Amino acid sequence: MPPAAADFPLPSETLSLVHTVAEVREAVHAARLRGEKVGVVPTMGALHSGHLSLATSAREECGFVIVTIFVNPSQFGPGEDFEKYPRMLERDLAACRRVGVDLVFVPSAAEIYPDGFRTQVEVTGISNVLEGACRPGHFSGVTTIVLKLLNIVQADSAWFGRKDYQQQVLIRRMCLDLNVPTVIRTCPTVREADGLALSSRNAYLDGEQRESALALSRALKLARDMLVRGETSVERVRQAMRELLEATPRVVVDYVTVAHPETLEELEEPLPEMVALVAARVDSTRLIDNLPVRLPSAPGDRSS
Ligand code: AMP
Repeated sequence: MPPAAADFPLPSETLSLVHTVAEVREAVHAARLRGEKVGVVPTMGALHSGHLSLATSAREECGFVIVTIFVNPSQFGPGEDFEKYPRMLERDLAACRRVGVDLVFVPSAAEIYPDGFRTQVEVTGISNVLEGACRPGHFSGVTTIVLKLLNIVQADSAWFGRKDYQQQVLIRRMCLDLNVPTVIRTCPTVREADGLALSSRNAYLDGEQRESALALSRALKLARDMLVRGETSVERVRQAMRELLEATPRVVVDYVTVAHPETLEELEEPLPEMVALVAARVDSTRLIDNLPVRLPSAPGDRSS
């Protein structure tokens, strides 16, 4: 019996699940023949409201919305959590259906990296700092898979979260440098009510660890408050962030920084627009977060 309409409160009645490049291409071709704009949201699955906010934004602008789910082995380093990364396809499909996604592409590793695969995409410089410094090779894995997905889907627009701040900077740079026609769109970080940025890795946290994890967003808010109130020494801001994190049980800091929003260069003096970034481990779970900071003299305010 077909499911009742009430089971699917939002638009998509029919969600396709495909596993091959040929099937995605065929579906995109058909959507274009119908005159629809195509949007894609690349993910590693274990979807939460952060991912779904991207799909919802894509839905608002595009007639045909694709979510890709691929836990990309080449962006995990040795000893990282590739094996235990949460995989929950049925739940992800239900979530995609709820927000009106049209097609979910779940390729196998062999579909993405067939025998003989040898190419790496590297955005130089900004890929070696912050996350790149802590996770050697990570961004080359990210930019390679993202370029592949963009080439496979050939969407009008692709949607990324500012939660992975450095990643979206790199992806925009790569697409500019390599004349990728897909427009890169970014959306603000979705948080729990208490400030914790949603992350698939939050699933690893028990109650106490989750409490400790709140220190990341608290440190970022502290940085923003200090800067907005007129602190002129970025070093003092970094120090305060570090102290807050180091005073939290179970937390080990990888980096704290206040950086230029595009070059990601660490600042010594405040700029009208900056980004505060943090990476820390809560026991064995590594978390990242960031907060754009706009000084009050600049018009408007961007909070995420
Ligand atoms: P992932 O599955 O972790 O690779 O993330 C897929 C996409 O979702 C990336 O563009 C992330 O930046 C984005 N994303 C992850 N968490 C959030 C969040 N809390 N808010 C907004 N976007 C997010």
